[in-house]
Amino acid sequence: MDLEQFKSQIDIVEVIQSFIPLRKVGTNYQAPCPFHNEKSPSFVVSPSKQIFTCFGCGKSGDAITFLKEYKNLDFKDALAEIASMFNIPLPHKESKAHNQRKDIYQVYAKIQKSLQEDLLANQKLKGYVLKRLGSLEAIEKFGLGYFGQNSRKVINELDFKERELLKEVGFLNENNRCAFFERLSFALFNPAYKIIGFAGRTQPFFNFKNSPKYLNSKQSFVFNKSQFLYNFHLAQKAIKQSKQIIVCEGYMDSIALQILGKHNCVATCGTAFNTQHLAQIFKLELECQILFFFDNDNAGLEATKRALEVCFSQGYFNVGVIRILDKHKDAGEILQENLLQNTQTLLLKATDGFSFYLKLLFNEQISSAQKGRNLEILKALINAQKNPFLKQELSQKVATTLNINLKFHTPLLQENPNNTLEASFYKSVLENEYIEALSVEYLQGRELGIYEKSWREYIKSKTRDRIANELFIDESIRTFDIPSARKAMKGLIFNDARKQKEILLAKKDYLGLIALNNYLTQLTS
Ligand SMILES: [Zn+2]
Repeated sequence: MDLEQFKSQIDIVEVIQSFIPLRKVGTNYQAPCPFHNEKSPSFVVSPSKQIFTCFGCGKSGDAITFLKEYKNLDFKDALAEIASMFNIPLPHKESKAHNQRKDIYQVYAKIQKSLQEDLLANQKLKGYVLKRLGSLEAIEKFGLGYFGQNSRKVINELDFKERELLKEVGFLNENNRCAFFERLSFALFNPAYKIIGFAGRTQPFFNFKNSPKYLNSKQSFVFNKSQFLYNFHLAQKAIKQSKQIIVCEGYMDSIALQILGKHNCVATCGTAFNTQHLAQIFKLELECQILFFFDNDNAGLEATKRALEVCFSQGYFNVGVIRILDKHKDAGEILQENLLQNTQTLLLKATDGFSFYLKLLFNEQISSAQKGRNLEILKALINAQKNPFLKQELSQKVATTLNINLKFHTPLLQENPNNTLEASFYKSVLENEYIEALSVEYLQGRELGIYEKSWREYIKSKTRDRIANELFIDESIRTFDIPSARKAMKGLIFNDARKQKEILLAKKDYLGLIALNNYLTQLTS
């Protein structure tokens, strides 16, 4: 497989989406640019052209360029990472990534089987899980287990290759030791129901001394901790049906809410909600409301605020906040109470995320000076939104919540001012080789105005510079079919001729004028 074949098997949207939340706008995708600091999205990704371009800073290129720049990799490493993302071999030589991934799925599945057996064989722990979760079905459904004797044996009996693999993903350390022993375990599934890691939690029947309550699998080629959403595989269907996703903070919360009937509930694991999580949700390509459900305490409130800001920074305002209305700290406690009392009530209330955020920024505990600064941040945020209807909606919420009228200039929707004859024609040149040939035959370059230099570069070296890429990706700029391109080209030539005539007249260059007239007659015949 050569590089071109390799590129034909990858998708730039999928690559970029693994790192940045992209939103579909028309046929392209948009986001605030990751390469320069901005609030409104000028970073555009085109699935049909397989390129990205930033209209702000001018960075552009294909999927490989993106990864190189974004992660600061060299070309070879960028290729390797993409190959493993798409499970395809590297150009020119065989890659290990694909097989390694399949192998680790198998080893993890084998381990999970033994963990589940360990849990079911341990009466005390089984009772503990039953008490916390209400049934033993949860063990299978949520991939629970226990790192006990049986699992120890299974792991010890793995062959050399399997153990090397477990070392590579950090499941075993250099001395073949696993950090999870004696812990309750949670298998971590990817959206395709493959196990990509484990989490281990302390349990009451073993003295863990001072070790942390939770341990997670290490970052590896199969497990990206900062983008992982627990139970996403189970929740996908319910998210699509309800057009809502509940995001909570921990494994137990997510399981508790699922058991309480909130099947669209996922959890971040040991990392705060960030843009990579948002990217996972945007991959579903549906307008869904994100509901944050964090602990009923100050830390939970702070986490909620930060999560909302992550969404707002990406121009996403379809968010809400769920707060617990009674004394319970988290979803686990609610489930406990429900199991004890055998009730089905959930005392939860969802409020609009932006209004909730406003109340956080401007409550009575905030000093006037801080409120003033918050107001400036808020204004900048609203002003950065390109959609005039959204701007209006947000200003409205500010007005009702804070009793302050923010006035924003909302321009009428208008056609792209860049949609000129020159732009459309040059874009057609970029897209169509025949039109390119026409342009080479008939144009001098001057006719293309601001695109002259870019056009010269393109016909000479076949590479698109920044200006060309911006045109190429801009869906609001029309292109011509061949007959219309001919007409457009004539238009360009005549426009230019009119300008030239004036110049020649001013210079009294009559020979030049005759030559120009001859040229035009020739052209029209
Ligand atoms: Zn940029």
